[in-house]
Amino acid sequence: MAYSQKLRALGLALLGIIKRFLRDPKRKLRYTNHLIMLNLHMGDFNKARILEFEIQSQPELKARQLYTLGDFQPAEVNYSSDFLKIQIDSRISELSSYLISGIEKAEQWISSQFPGFKSVLNYFLMNDTGPSPFNAQLGDVYLKVGHYNPVSNDREILQHAIVHELTHILLRNHIGFKIRQSEFGIRKFFDEGFAQYCGFQSVGAYSRKLAHADTCSTVVIKRNLYGLLHRIENWNETIFNERHYPLYQASMSFVGYFQEQIGFDGLVDLFRNSGYDTNFPKLIEDKTGASFENHLSNWATQLPSLAEQTDQEFCEIASVERLSPNKLKISYYSKFPLYPIKDILALDSSGTQLEIQVDRRKRYEQSGEFMLLCEEGETLYLTIIHDDKVQQIKV
Ligand SMILES: [Zn+2]
Repeated sequence: MAYSQKLRALGLALLGIIKRFLRDPKRKLRYTNHLIMLNLHMGDFNKARILEFEIQSQPELKARQLYTLGDFQPAEVNYSSDFLKIQIDSRISELSSYLISGIEKAEQWISSQFPGFKSVLNYFLMNDTGPSPFNAQLGDVYLKVGHYNPVSNDREILQHAIVHELTHILLRNHIGFKIRQSEFGIRKFFDEGFAQYCGFQSVGAYSRKLAHADTCSTVVIKRNLYGLLHRIENWNETIFNERHYPLYQASMSFVGYFQEQIGFDGLVDLFRNSGYDTNFPKLIEDKTGASFENHLSNWATQLPSLAEQTDQEFCEIASVERLSPNKLKISYYSKFPLYPIKDILALDSSGTQLEIQVDRRKRYEQSGEFMLLCEEGETLYLTIIHDDKVQQIKV
C-alpha cells in the first residue's frame, strides 16, 4: 500500500472508532458539552450556540442535559482584574453590572490574605437559571444569574460565589492542596468549608453566615454525627441526591470552629503542599494532636443550642396543601429573602430531617413555596434561618 493509502485507511479506522464511541448518547453529550466549553473559552460564541442547538434538537441528548451553556451573547460591558475576568450576557447586563458592583473590595480581601496570589479565572455571567458548573482545566466558571434580583442579598450571594470558586483555584495552585479520589470526602469537606469561609469573609458577611451554618449544624448534625461522617464519605451522592442535607453549612461551620482552634495561618499551613502524596487525616493528627473525628465531635459539642437563638418572628406559613400521600406544598411570607432548600430545615417528631424540594428558578424570594416529602398525620418542625435570625414553627 502506498503511504497516502495507508494514511487514509488509518484515518477511516479512527473515524470509525470515534463514530462508535459517540453512538452512546451519554458520551456524545459529554463530548459536545466539552466542545461548547472550549468554544466559549476561545470566544467563538456562534459555534457554541450551534453545538447547543444540536443537543437541544436531539431528544435523547436533551433529556440528559443537566445544564445549557451554549447560548451566550456577550455584552459590551465586562470586568477584568489581577484575579478574574467577568464576561456578561447582554440580556442581563444591567442586572449583572449591579451584582458585581464593589467586587474590588472582595478581591482586596483575597490579595491581603494571600499576597503573591495571581490567577486569571474567567467567569461567564449567563442568562437563565440552573446549575453553574466550573471547568477547572480551562479555568472557566459558568454562573447562571438570570434568577437573581437587583438587591443587596443577591449581590452578596453572587460575589461570594465568585470568591468561593477563586478559593478552590487558590488552594490548588497557590497553596498546593489537591482533591484526590482516595480521600475525596474529607478533602472536599475542608475544600468547600474553606471556600465558603473565604467567600463570606471577602464580602463582609462572615459572622452572619457562620451563625446560619452553625444553626443548620445544630438542628441536623449535632444529634447524629455519625450521619455526617457517612455524608462526608458519600460526598457526591449527598450533593446530587440529598440536596436538602446541610453539608456545605456543616463544612463552613466546622472550618470556622477549626480556624478558631488553630488560627487562620494554622489552617492554611495544614493545607500547604498536602498534595497527592500526603495522608490528610494523618496530617491533621500530626499537626494538631487529635484525629479528625475528635475535632468533629468537639465542634459538635460546642455548637450553640437552638433555644438560645429562636426569638425572632420574620416568617409566616401562609398555606399547607397536601398534593399526594407523601407530599405537601407549603407557601410562606418572610421579611427576608429565603432560599427554602438552604434556609428551611424540616424535621419529623423523631428528629429525622425531611426532604425539601424547590423550583430552582426561584431563589431568595420573600414569598414563595416549597415541597416537603412527608407522610400523612406527621407533626412537622420547621426551623427557618436567615443569617443569624432563627424561627421555629410547628405545623
Ligand atoms: Zn465549591
